[in-house]
Amino acid sequence: MPEGDSLHRAAALLQPLVGERVEAESAHPQGQATGVARVIDGRVLTSVEAVGKHLLLRFEGDVVLRSHLRMRGRWRLEPRGAQLRGLPWLVLRGREWEARQWNGPVLALDQRPVRRLGPDLLARETQVDDLVRRVRRAVPTRLVGEALLDQSVVAGIGNMWLAEALWHARLSPWRRVADASDEELGSALAFVQERMRASVDGERTARAVYRKAGRPCPRCGTPISSGGLGDANRTAYWCPACQALPATAAR
Ligand SMILES: [Zn+2]
Repeated sequence: MPEGDSLHRAAALLQPLVGERVEAESAHPQGQATGVARVIDGRVLTSVEAVGKHLLLRFEGDVVLRSHLRMRGRWRLEPRGAQLRGLPWLVLRGREWEARQWNGPVLALDQRPVRRLGPDLLARETQVDDLVRRVRRAVPTRLVGEALLDQSVVAGIGNMWLAEALWHARLSPWRRVADASDEELGSALAFVQERMRASVDGERTARAVYRKAGRPCPRCGTPISSGGLGDANRTAYWCPACQALPATAAR
């Protein structure tokens, strides 16, 4: 599932095309329906960057293509003219390489959703202390497990990294933000920032809890729990012993 680190890897992957005038075409009908290829065909690609879970491709003439991968979308880089199996939503063809976008599902020439985003967790200038303050300011009564997924607070964290970060910080996903200490929030955010940066560099992090319901917690051996969390009812994973709720907090 693409989270911020996958998007940063995709941005790195597409760098060989930056500075080149690209031929653009869509083979997949849903890709054609976006109208994107027609607008960017023949323009110079000036930059590719990841912002939160979005990939922004900037072209000459102030044209910006926004790609969001949701669950199944992918970018691939192939030698120009390499054999095609299936229908990509978009192909950007440079002199030696071509980028292929598979499964969409979002290719758009508007940047509105990006303007609403909080700081990118993986941007060099993003400091954990600032993020802790943002989380507190934005949503003190919300559950920690929802607040850290809110892309307008901090951009880039998805369900998998959330589960791992909260386990690392021994923080229950059902704690209210107001009931969690700066140290706990900071520990979760610093962990996920560090591990996602490592992931961009190709390093893997062993999962402790995500999709491990019923398996023993690597720290204490208690079986991992799972359950729907908050308004979006996304599945949370946690160790009921290491990440216990304080007795005063009601679930
Ligand atoms: Zn445990």
